[in-house]
Order: sequence, then C-alpha cells, then structure tokens
Amino acid sequence: MIDGWCVSVSEKLKDKIAIVTGSSLGIGKAIALAFAKQGAIVVTNSRKLERAEVTASEIRHLGRQAHAIEADLTKSTDVDHLIDTTIEHFGRIDILVNNAGIAMIVPTEDLSEHDWDRAIDIDLKATFLCSQKAAKRAMIPQRSGVIINISSILAKTALPMRAAYCASKAGVMALTQVMGCEWAKYRIRVVAIGPGYILTELVQQSIDTGVFNAETLIDRTPMKRLGKLDEIANLAVFLASDDAGYITGEIIYVDGGMTATGGW
Ligand code: NAP
Repeated sequence: MIDGWCVSVSEKLKDKIAIVTGSSLGIGKAIALAFAKQGAIVVTNSRKLERAEVTASEIRHLGRQAHAIEADLTKSTDVDHLIDTTIEHFGRIDILVNNAGIAMIVPTEDLSEHDWDRAIDIDLKATFLCSQKAAKRAMIPQRSGVIINISSILAKTALPMRAAYCASKAGVMALTQVMGCEWAKYRIRVVAIGPGYILTELVQQSIDTGVFNAETLIDRTPMKRLGKLDEIANLAVFLASDDAGYITGEIIYVDGGMTATGGW
C-alpha cells in the first residue's frame, strides 16, 4: 500500500503454455527466462536435449515449470514431436516463439544450393512448419494463441553476403502478415520482432574474431550502442500478453534507429 493506493504486481503470462524454439542460448534463452518470470510454463528447445535442458533447469531454479524438448526444426518429423509432445504434456499451446535460426555469410556468387537450403530451412521453413502445426493442432481448436516470429532488420535492409538470410527474414515478415490476417478469425495473433545487432554470446564472439566490426555497427546506429537481450525479451513479453491484444500481422524493429536511418 503506497499513499492509499494498492499496488499489485501481476504476472502478464500467468500459466500460459509457451514454446520458445532455439532457446538454448542467446535471444531464445532470454525470452524463455523472461516468459517464466511472468508466470509462463515454458517448453525449451535445441537440437541437443542437454542444451535445451540447461535453460529449462535455470527456469526451474526460478521456481517455475519448464520442459525441454530436443528437435531439429529443419525436419518436419521433429517439428511434429515438439508440437505433439507439448500438447500431450500440457493440453494446449498459448504462445509459440519462432526464434531458432542461423546466420549465413557467403558472397552470393559462391553461395551453394546446399547452404541456401540450410538457411532457408531453419530461418524460414521452420517458422512456417511450427506455426502451421501449432495453429492446426492447438490454437485453432482453442480459438486463441499468439505466434511471435523473430525476423531481423535484414528483412528490409540489404547487407552484402546475406542473400539467403535476408530472403528468409523478409519471408518471415511476409508470413507474419499472411498468418496474422488469415488466423485473426480464430483469435490467433501473429507478430514479428526485427532485432538489430543484439549483444549475444555469438555476436560477441563474431566481434572478437573480426567477423563483425563493433565500431562500424555502433557508428551506423543512431543510439550508438548494440542492443541488449532484455530489450528483445521485454518486447516479446508485451507482444505475448493481452496488453498487445490489438496487434497482429505487424513487425516491430528493435534496432536503436538503424533501419530508420536507412541502415547501410
Ligand atoms: P544463437 O545465439 O546462435 O542461437 C540460435 C538458437 O537457435 C540456438 O538455441 C540453437 O540451438 C537454435 N537452432 C539453430 N538451428 C536449429 C535447428 N535446426 N533446430 C532447432 N534449433 C536450432 O542466435 P541468436 O543471435 O540468439 O538469434 C536468435 C534469432 O534472432 C535468430 O532467428 C536470428 O536470426 C535472430 N536475430 C538475431 C540478431 C542478433 O543480433 N543476435 C539480430 C537479428 C535477428 P542449438 O545450437 O543448441 O541447437
């Protein structure tokens, strides 16, 4: 009680069943932990069970429920396993975050068909497969759900040597719009987040090994810094919650103003 006002801190995602793909590290892990702190029961995922289990056990240490599922989302049968096991365990899926992804940095003239397929399969096709199966088997029958796709500023800003990645992330944006419009009648919202350069372990490694030049990235960002994991995770919590109840088919960029300046 403060000056006669009753202050109640309510959890924004209390008892929601949330799958976060690719949640063994980086942005996916940050979202999984943020969802758990807001009361969600989180299904974590990685290509290796023990890596998904690390995040799940951190969630359990917070006193929250989590379940780890191994699935390589480039394989349709593994996507079936992720979705069906979640439904078997929890009876529903309230939130799906399509986060799993890989970078692919190759000059376009040298990009092999194999590498093109590798990037498209996880960065675009897995988003379609996970969304379709979660919608058809849980969210459409429930008449509720939220799908959050992790796209990128590279959905709308060209960057050399990222042909497959840019095409995938632009595809994710289009998919978000189509699914958002198509499934609104089932009260399913579909939204996307377009991160700029976020300081994950792997971005830090890329800076350390000279793949990225931190000074150039910072110089091109109006806010003159890289993004923080919490800045993506907090937006994901908002978008997953009823506070964002009238937002669908939309992408929100979290990039310190990079796309607003025209990027590169
Ligand atoms: P990250 O640290 O490399 O993590 C990627 C996650 O995806 C890992 O948990 C990885 O799990 C999982 N993954 C990869 N391939 C998979 C597959 N076939 N099946 C299942 N899981 C798979 O990446 P991040 O930087 O956090 O990026 C996360 C998302 O944000 C990606 O979609 C990325 O494109 C996007 N994004 C990131 C940035 C950034 O600055 N970091 C900027 C824009 C967009 P395992 O390796 O354990 O299997």
